[in-house]
Amino acid sequence: MKQSRLFTKTSKEMPADADSANARLLIQAGFVDQLAAGIYSFLPLGHRTLEKIKTIVREEMDVIGGQEVTLPALTPKEPWTAAGRWTEPGKEVMFQLEGRSGKEFGLAFTAEELVTPIVKKFANSYKDFPVLVYQITDKFRNEPRAKSGILRGREFSMKDLYSFHLSEADRALFYDKVAEAYHKVFKRCGVPAIYTEADGGSFGDASHEFQMPTESGEDLIYVNDAKDYAWNREIVEGIKNGDQAPDGSGTVTEMKAIEVGNIFPLGTKFSAPLDFKVTDENGVEQTVIMGSYGIGPSRVMGAMVEAMHDDKGMIWPKNVAPYHVHLVSLHSKDEQILNRINSVASELHDDLITAGVEVLWDDRVGVNPGPKFADADLIGLPLRLVVSEKTLNEDSVEWKERAGGEMSLVKLEDIKDQVIAWLAE
Ligand code: ATP
Ligand code: MG
Repeated sequence: MKQSRLFTKTSKEMPADADSANARLLIQAGFVDQLAAGIYSFLPLGHRTLEKIKTIVREEMDVIGGQEVTLPALTPKEPWTAAGRWTEPGKEVMFQLEGRSGKEFGLAFTAEELVTPIVKKFANSYKDFPVLVYQITDKFRNEPRAKSGILRGREFSMKDLYSFHLSEADRALFYDKVAEAYHKVFKRCGVPAIYTEADGGSFGDASHEFQMPTESGEDLIYVNDAKDYAWNREIVEGIKNGDQAPDGSGTVTEMKAIEVGNIFPLGTKFSAPLDFKVTDENGVEQTVIMGSYGIGPSRVMGAMVEAMHDDKGMIWPKNVAPYHVHLVSLHSKDEQILNRINSVASELHDDLITAGVEVLWDDRVGVNPGPKFADADLIGLPLRLVVSEKTLNEDSVEWKERAGGEMSLVKLEDIKDQVIAWLAE
C-alpha cells in the first residue's frame, strides 16, 4: 500500500477530549475518527487491526467448537421481556426506539434472549448437546460515561459466545476450556490480562474476568504475588493493598484495570423463563444450563495501545499491526539517485507483497525524513525499512524494529529473506 494513496493522514494536533493514550494516538495516527462520544469510525489502518483481532478471537472460538452466527442488532421488544431485561437493565443500558405504528425496538446490548430461542428450535434431543454459538458483532450500550477512547464505546465490537449443556459438570468443563482459549487470545494479542475472580451474579458461582492493569481502567483488582490471578474489588470489599490474598497465597497488590473479557456461568437464568428443557440420556428432563462469554475486540485494540506505546506513538506486534513493514523511501536532490531509491523501494515493496508480507510504503515525495520517521513511530508498524542515498551507498536497507533494538544495515540481496524469516519468528 502506498502511503501517498492512503486517504487518511496523521495529525500532530492533540484531539480535543482525548483522555487516554489510545484515544489520542489512534486519532492522531488516523486509525479511528470520533463521530461522537463513544462512537468511532474505523479507518483503513484501524479497520485492518480490528479485523485481525477479530480473526484471532474467531480462530480460538472455532478451536473449542464454537459455531459462528450473526444475529440482528435491531431487535423487537418481545424477546427481551421474557427474562425481564427490557426494563432492567434495558431501560438504562439499551437504546430503545420506536418504529412505525408505535412498535418498540431495541439495539442489542448482549444476546442471550436472541440466541436461546434459536437453539431451542433446533436442539431438542440430548444428542444435540452441547451447543456452542458465538457471534462477533457490534453491540450498543447507553453507557453513562463513554470515555477512554475505544475502551468504552456506545457502539463497540463484541464477541459473545453462549454455551448450552445438559449438566452443570459439562458446563464447568467447558468454562475452563473457554478460559484457556481466552488466555491464548490475549497472549496472541500481547495483552497482559490477569484471570480475575468476579461476582457471579445471582447464582453463587464465581464468574471470571480478564483484567488488564492500566491507569485508564475503571475497575480495581487485587493481584496475587505471582501476577496470574486477581480478585475484583466487588467480591472482596474492604481489602487493601498489601493485605493477605483471599486464597492465602501471599499478599495482594491493588491495581486499576480494564476488563477485556468475561466468562459467566448463567445457570438457568434465561433457559428457565424461556422454557428450554430437554430430556437427558437418563430420561430425566433438564432445564438447559447456559454460560456466556464475552470479549470486546475494539476494547482489546484500545487496551493494546494502552499497554504498548511510548512518547512517540504506538507499538504494534506483528500479528495485529495494520501492516508488517513500514518501508520508507527518502528524498534525494540528485535525480538519478532519487530514481534509484524509488526503483529499489518499489521492487522491494512488490517482492515483499508477493512473499505475503504486508507493506505500507511511505513513497510520499517532498516530505522530509523527520516527519516520515515521526509518522512511522506514531503508526507503530513493527518493522521500519529505510531506503536512502546513504543506505544505497552500502547496497543496503536500514532495518529498525519499533519495539526497540539497534538500527542495522541489511544488504539488498538479503533483505527479502531476512524479512520473511523475521515474520515467521
Ligand atoms: P464493564 O464492566 O467494563 O462495563 P461489562 O461487564 O458490562 O463491562 P460484558 O457485558 O461482560 O461487559 O461485555 C463483554 C465484553 O465486551 C467486555 O469484557 C468488554 O471487553 C466488552 N465491552 C463491554 N462494554 C464495552 C464498551 N462500552 N465498550 C467497549 N467494549 C465493551
Ligand atoms: Mg464487568
